[in-house]
Amino acid sequence: MGMPQTSYRPHPFRWVPAEGQRHATTDRLAAGGWSDGEAVTMLCGESVEVDNSVEAWLWETCADCNAEAHRMARVPMVAAP
Ligand SMILES: [Zn+2]
Repeated sequence: MGMPQTSYRPHPFRWVPAEGQRHATTDRLAAGGWSDGEAVTMLCGESVEVDNSVEAWLWETCADCNAEAHRMARVPMVAAP
């Protein structure tokens, strides 16, 4: 008798700063994370190079990735004021 498989995966994607915007991806994260300049395919369909600099985390969110991430997480988009 095995235990039921109940692995908790809140979001199947993660945020990745790349080329001037914060994108999201479902690509599998390698041990130790992505390297600078590594090409990752994002939810918006673009393949962009990862930037691990501190400034990169302050970039604006990619609108297409944001919309897709909300859809995948089944969280409605909050309307801008
Ligand atoms: Zn994007």
